[in-house]
Amino acid sequence: MEKKDIDWSSLGFGYVKTDKRYVSWFKNGAWDDGALVEDDTITMSECAGVLQYAQTIFEGLKAYTTEDGHIVCFRPDLNAERLEQSAARLEMPVFPKDRFIDAVVKTVEANEAYVPPYGSGATLYIRPYMFGYNPVIGVKPADEYQFRVFTTPVGPYFKGGAKPITIKVSDFDRAAPHGTGHIKAGLNYAMSLHAIVTAHKEGFDENMYLDPGTRTKVEETGGANFLFITKDNKVVTPKSDSILPSITRRSLMYVAEKYLGLTVEHREVYFDELKDFAECGLCGTAAVISPVGKIVNHGEEICLPSGMDDMGPITKKLYDTLTGIQMGRMEAPEGWIKVIK
Ligand SMILES: *Cc1c(COP(=O)(O)O)cnc(C)c1O
Repeated sequence: MEKKDIDWSSLGFGYVKTDKRYVSWFKNGAWDDGALVEDDTITMSECAGVLQYAQTIFEGLKAYTTEDGHIVCFRPDLNAERLEQSAARLEMPVFPKDRFIDAVVKTVEANEAYVPPYGSGATLYIRPYMFGYNPVIGVKPADEYQFRVFTTPVGPYFKGGAKPITIKVSDFDRAAPHGTGHIKAGLNYAMSLHAIVTAHKEGFDENMYLDPGTRTKVEETGGANFLFITKDNKVVTPKSDSILPSITRRSLMYVAEKYLGLTVEHREVYFDELKDFAECGLCGTAAVISPVGKIVNHGEEICLPSGMDDMGPITKKLYDTLTGIQMGRMEAPEGWIKVIK
């Protein structure tokens, strides 16, 4: 397979159209067989449910080339399960798990020429999503849906090393108590846009959202879960019903315990505790872990002892172990790596 002539190392995180995408329609109460298509555009009614009432959910995962030359993706079964949970919460039909994985595999295979080579740091980002398609004007769920998967090559997240970032405690909430914070839906992102634009204008890289009920506990950022390391090397990660259950975070918790022998705590984390932690990172598919060096709350600065130059030592170990597993340099737990080719 001839690869596309792309300068992999200079790719950013932007949309690049690839050759094929997967589409399946839900009509009359059932999904059709699904197919790969070339057309990257979607035509729909001006009154489509997704356009009027934001009935849309998505997933994000990556395909990449391992050290021994296979194309793989990481735990797609968990993305399939999470899409099911998102669908249930927005009254959308479930796309079956085996079909989800099959659709991901087919779309990656069809765009193999865009899977970046091992060592480039770049990956093929995979975006499965589902939305309400037919006209809906009275407020109710759509009757017809499309499930789609497209791919786009993305560059190395950290160009020139993972520099710790500075985040601000947001004055906005990303999720309501008993709301939709725990599902992966466009609506959670729409409401975070003003908050992130505001944070960027003020010179911060990201927002830390607090729990919407009491604003005393740490939740997550707009698109990544928090992970903290205590001074005695425990790994602590916030627990809340309004946090999106990150697959990267769940995998890191496992790696911390089973590969590195660290104690892991998944519990409520109070904002007041932050000054006592040694390291902080953000976890998600895009970067695996982004180190945080400083947290600012209305001028009050919390500087993590790991500093602003490098990832903290435990964060680095977690990062190296999980990326080692993903890239095939270390043995993966059973079922974590889906070999596509
Ligand atoms: C997708 C997402 C994450 C990260 O989840 P991963 O499965 O690790 O990619 C974290 N928070 C939010 C709000 C998200 O949408």
